[in-house]
Amino acid sequence: MANSSETPSSAGTEAGRDFIRDIIQSDLDAGRISEVVTRFPPEPNGYLHLGHAKSICLNFGVAQEFGGRCHLRFDDTNPTKEEQEFIDSIQADVHWLGFDWGEHLYFASNYFEQLYQWAEDLIGKGLAYVDDSTPDEIREMRGTLTEPGKDSPFRDRTIAENLDLFRRMRAGEFANGARVLRAKIDMAAGNINLRDPILYRILHATHPRTGDAWCIYPTYDFTHGQSDAIEHVSHSICTLEFDDHRPLYDWFIAHLPVPSTPHQYEFARLNLTYTVLSKRVLTRLVRDGHVSGWDDPRMPTLAGQRRRGVPPAALREFVKRVGVARANSMVDLALYQDALRDVLNAISPRRMAVLRPLKVIIDNWEEGRTETLEAVNNPEHPEMGTRPVSFGREIYIERDDFALAPPPRFHRLAPGREVRLRYAYFVTCRSVEQNAAGEVTALHVTYDPETRGGDAPDGRKVRGTLHWVAAHDAITAEARLYNQLFGRPDPGADGDIMADLAPDSLEVLQGCKLEPSLAGQTVGEAVQFERLGYFCPDPDSRPDALVFNRTVGLRDSWAKLHGGKKG
Ligand code: ATP
Ligand code: MG
Repeated sequence: MANSSETPSSAGTEAGRDFIRDIIQSDLDAGRISEVVTRFPPEPNGYLHLGHAKSICLNFGVAQEFGGRCHLRFDDTNPTKEEQEFIDSIQADVHWLGFDWGEHLYFASNYFEQLYQWAEDLIGKGLAYVDDSTPDEIREMRGTLTEPGKDSPFRDRTIAENLDLFRRMRAGEFANGARVLRAKIDMAAGNINLRDPILYRILHATHPRTGDAWCIYPTYDFTHGQSDAIEHVSHSICTLEFDDHRPLYDWFIAHLPVPSTPHQYEFARLNLTYTVLSKRVLTRLVRDGHVSGWDDPRMPTLAGQRRRGVPPAALREFVKRVGVARANSMVDLALYQDALRDVLNAISPRRMAVLRPLKVIIDNWEEGRTETLEAVNNPEHPEMGTRPVSFGREIYIERDDFALAPPPRFHRLAPGREVRLRYAYFVTCRSVEQNAAGEVTALHVTYDPETRGGDAPDGRKVRGTLHWVAAHDAITAEARLYNQLFGRPDPGADGDIMADLAPDSLEVLQGCKLEPSLAGQTVGEAVQFERLGYFCPDPDSRPDALVFNRTVGLRDSWAKLHGGKKG
């Protein structure tokens, strides 16, 4: 399914319209709600990824557009997997993406006492019971899609007995897994979620926020809707896999004395080719050392993408282009990269850098003479101005921009050929230095003084324009080039997802030569290396050892080269 990419929902979405926004608008128009309240409900068991960005932009976006508010609520009901590091990183990432919850920071654990009271409430109404069956027995009794379930032998306990056992569960009298509290709904329900779902489990574990106050924890299903109700959430927006949990969501709201009646709506989760958006797998990548950490620039986490140089505006633009649909689909990674390039193109100054340097000596340029030329910062944005670049007798060009025996359609430098050095002069290759192994170690060229700035007064054309860096004031840096972490568009489709890790997802180049103005670039600040791509300094950079990340390549470096254009 890798090639079936989701159509960006531009049609009929002038104001970013989609079915969620339509529902909200009609709820407001009909007076069913007076205020739009949404929430983004992460589980603090990992870092946020691109899929979460879609949910964040949707939840915070609609709240903004309709003058409502969006809560950040940590769904912290599983103390064994949750950590403060994740709580902190999630808050930082939501802010970075450009959204703010104001005073509305909540934790499901804040509601543990209320949820417990509501569980007693259900017991009191004969709608919940304590089950002593083992997890395996409960699973067996649940039935299948085609067969109804079986009633547990503990289903008909008296209210008094259930209350007593549930209180003793809370008091810590029983071991993990010894008993659970279940809703008493219908073991023959067509929807398996309604076959007496589990409300509470015994888990003797320390919680990051409530410490050892609790040894029973509510399940997601028993927590989520009631938390929405407590917070007066009007539209509880989640991904499609919760579609068949909705009847249960509504059942709790209908049977409990909750302060408001929220509704759940489902949209398609983001799936991206070559990318894994599952915290379980991302956690394995980190734990097993396949990446340097959650913020490894190859990770689809927001922290990784930020470190790689992705501006938050590019993520918002991508999410907007993907749109919000009710059918699952696979989005082509190219859609993400295009959004990235469009945003980076507008904001990035152009600079010259040579990643794999080849020295070029201009034989008819006097030793020691340098000259200052004017380079344009962004040809598409003249207001970004120009900068001086220094030129001299020795420069560097990319190794790839020279060929001893040029193939057809190679319009760069070769013996006897003339090319333009961007913003500088035309040069012609006169001779080549080679080592004993036959490798080219330096080129000798001559320049035409009449071509300063890049035009020949006689109107003669050259087919190639090369970027370059002057040797006398170049700075040396490391460049990290990132490729897809997974080597196939549908990682894991054949089973072991780790077997699909690409061997060449990181390429590190040492000794890159950069124009000196790049020494002043701050960490994360975007720049376009002409003809190479968008880069930014990595936090590993030191004043005397700069490290640049390639955020994304240019789509058309080869085409540009072909045009041999000056601009
Ligand atoms: P994962 O599957 O990676 O473990 P999750 O759904 O368990 O993710 P949560 O922390 O529970 O992670 O997610 C918080 C919110 O983000 C939920 O509302 C969830 O629906 C949404 N979300 C998670 N993954 C995606 C995705 N790929 N696309 C859109 N929304 C997502
Ligand atoms: Mg979840």
